[in-house]
Amino acid sequence: MLKTLDFKGNYEDIAAKFSSRKADISKQVSEAVDSIIDDVKKNGDKALMKYCRKFDGFMIEDPKELIVTKKEILEGVSEVGKDFMRILERTKQQITDFHKHQVDKSWSVYKENGVMMGQIVRGLENIALYVPGGTATYPSTVMMNAIPAKLAGVKNLVIITPVKEDGKVNPTILAAAYVCGIETIYKVGGAQGVAAVAVGTNTIPKVDKIVGPGNIYVATAKKNCYGMVDIDMVAGPSEILIVADEKANPKYIAADLMSQAEHDKLASAILVTTCPALVDEVNQELQRQMAYLSRTEIIEESLANYGGAILVDSIEEAFEVSNYLAPEHLEVLVENPLNTLPLIHNAGSIFLGEYTPEPLGDYMSGTNHVLPTGGTAKFYSALGVYDFVKYSSYSYYPKQVLSTFKDDVVKFAKLEGLDAHANSVAVRFEEE
Ligand code: NAD
Repeated sequence: MLKTLDFKGNYEDIAAKFSSRKADISKQVSEAVDSIIDDVKKNGDKALMKYCRKFDGFMIEDPKELIVTKKEILEGVSEVGKDFMRILERTKQQITDFHKHQVDKSWSVYKENGVMMGQIVRGLENIALYVPGGTATYPSTVMMNAIPAKLAGVKNLVIITPVKEDGKVNPTILAAAYVCGIETIYKVGGAQGVAAVAVGTNTIPKVDKIVGPGNIYVATAKKNCYGMVDIDMVAGPSEILIVADEKANPKYIAADLMSQAEHDKLASAILVTTCPALVDEVNQELQRQMAYLSRTEIIEESLANYGGAILVDSIEEAFEVSNYLAPEHLEVLVENPLNTLPLIHNAGSIFLGEYTPEPLGDYMSGTNHVLPTGGTAKFYSALGVYDFVKYSSYSYYPKQVLSTFKDDVVKFAKLEGLDAHANSVAVRFEEE
């Protein structure tokens, strides 16, 4: 049931609750992770094999077994079947169609006085994508990370993922990797997998950046390796906020709230509406639809803890609340949803109108599903091509133009107490 949250005029309380859902990184986990990282630094592949055996029951004896063979990838492709391959190809096309517009261009300017300056955009060279093991597998996450990386021009994109006793990577992951053109996959995960790509071992080369979701050990390892490598954001539990007016369909609202609530007991699903009657109708729908869904225990718990309805006086106020909470997913179920875009300032991904349900965005709308959570949409963006590039600026000055800047640069440098800086410019104009 969706309880009515009376936070009228005081959004701080609900925002605090919303952003408090992060899984806490305990000192104990952080210390355990640091000791695994140190071990991998010192003992390389030997440490990796030890942890594969200890945590995953993968009884590996030779580091070569860490590498997924081409044959295994092709077996995965045939195992998932033609129809799933078709869906993966269609998804790839959709994600590409959206993300190709994010590809940034290098630029340069030439001035009349002979000065030239510009900026070069290059893809990062080496990226590792963490793909979680465990029962739930997410080939969609492989695609949401790999396709922007490829569009950015990343040269080497590898996957790290843990395997269980049977030593097998889930075929849906292998198939998604194949569709994205990823040929290198290592059978190691957890903190040891993250450490391997952060520091490099004999079998696994070091990368420049690690992306992708994982459990608390993976998230902590990424955080603790930051600096040796770059990382993407550390994502929190999923969330949806729906802004709806009196004409919105309660059936769709209930379905969409539950689509996020089913992720996790810490997930948050909130309805913001101008219509009190709609809340009752949504509650009836929640009960009706829950009767045929399977993850109802999780749904009920997350709705009870972090779900609710907020009543507002106007649609403008609804967006004030939404902007305050800065949700990961924002659905807009009002008349003329396209007109509301100027009112939206903070949201990871926006779904406009009755026929753009959030789960379409999880898979196939083309927009990215790796999104900022816990209110961080106020300052973070969805994962995109820009996360896989770096920018180098350049400039060229002829002597006669430098001479016009000489005195000012020298004065500036002396003011900062850096006389070697001043000297670097001055020596160029000394009499021979
Ligand atoms: P995982 O791959 O993240 O972690 C498995 C590894 O954890 C093991 O290989 C082991 O090395 C390590 N580990 C387990 N217990 C340990 C211990 N006691 N000490 C040290 N290391 C230990 O797989 P998972 O556990 O199934 O978790 C998957 C996570 O990824 C979930 O939290 C899920 O919510 C998240 N996820 C998020 C998204 C997304 O945001 N799109 C997608 C997929 C999964």
